[in-house]
Amino acid sequence: MVQIKISKIAKSFGTLEVFKDLNLEIKDKSYVCLLGPSGCGKSTLMRIISGLEDISAGSIHFDDTRVDAMNCAERDVGLAFQNYALYPHLTVEGNLRFPLRAPIRRGKYSEAEIRSRIDEIAHLLEITPYLHRTIDQLSGGQQQRVSLGRALIRRPKVLLLDEPITHLDARLRYSMRSELKLIHEVMGTTTIHVTHDQQEALAMADQLVLMRNGMIEQAGPPMDIYNHPENSFVAGFLGDPPRSLINMSIIRSEDGPAAQLGDATFPMPPGLIASCTELVGTKVLIAVPAKAITFQDEGATMTGVVKAHEMIEGAQRIVLDVNGQRFNTHNQQVRRVANGDRVGLALNLAPAHLFDASTEQILAHGDD
Ligand code: ADP
Ligand code: MG
Repeated sequence: MVQIKISKIAKSFGTLEVFKDLNLEIKDKSYVCLLGPSGCGKSTLMRIISGLEDISAGSIHFDDTRVDAMNCAERDVGLAFQNYALYPHLTVEGNLRFPLRAPIRRGKYSEAEIRSRIDEIAHLLEITPYLHRTIDQLSGGQQQRVSLGRALIRRPKVLLLDEPITHLDARLRYSMRSELKLIHEVMGTTTIHVTHDQQEALAMADQLVLMRNGMIEQAGPPMDIYNHPENSFVAGFLGDPPRSLINMSIIRSEDGPAAQLGDATFPMPPGLIASCTELVGTKVLIAVPAKAITFQDEGATMTGVVKAHEMIEGAQRIVLDVNGQRFNTHNQQVRRVANGDRVGLALNLAPAHLFDASTEQILAHGDD
């Protein structure tokens, strides 16, 4: 069981500076999901924590031990990366046995101990029936379990999973989510799980770390981040479909401050009036969840043009263009629409979050 502290680390590949001054603390026994767009540095950070990649500045501690000069084996981390890296010519059992027989551990485990660990892990991952098959005789999902088994069998201090279930089909991915959490509950190993899938991250993490361009944009419990995004990137990254990020101006109207978009004005809801009074005359970026944009056939103050539409699990998602800005909607009620149709819209700003249009930083949280 271990707490991880990453302080002021820097990392470059040639002229590409991936991390400049990255700090992150991970609590003992937590299940952390690292989430962010492709190329933001998730895998590099995992490789740095594991010891596969060095750093040019800063430090990494596992509890009170400084580990950044140690190699991967000395750090005692279990790795399961996207490309399984199993030994295809060995059986499942051979693959599970391998980490216990590595040169650094030769003689550390008796045959009886090895046997009992293999049985335990195989039972936990439900791969006992396949122990004598070779890797190429397994399905993708089974291979992924073996890969996890190999990471877990030494009972490492830290478990690092880089997109461990990304390539599974949807059904298996869903069941592996709960299995991974169950394993975490049983073993209590501090776990970092990289994903670019926000649903997976929101569902699994007790701590979510959202990254962009080698920086941590926000870290904390998933619902705290969802409900209190600190900048517009975070607000627009989360949500399914993602929140719409709309450029508007705050103006003074007869009924108090209002948001203006083109010819349309929207009065501020009670919860946002106080903070918006100070913002009159400024440009803001407003993050609006899909549920807050609805269709209004008569008397609408705003219209949008349908850009795309699809059905997902009985609900309809329509992407609209309003004055050159993209609106994402999600409605249980299905409308008959075609691309290019113009439709009337209503906007509820009560659950919206307001950001400074130039710094992207939070100005006011609505009640999402
Ligand atoms: P992610 O896992 O979030 O998709 P990565 O950590 O793999 O992102 O990559 C972060 C950045 O570092 C990317 O721009 C990537 O091209 C670059 N990068 C990663 N590994 C190397 C490497 N070995 N050599 C050069 N550039 C690399
Ligand atoms: Mg990656």
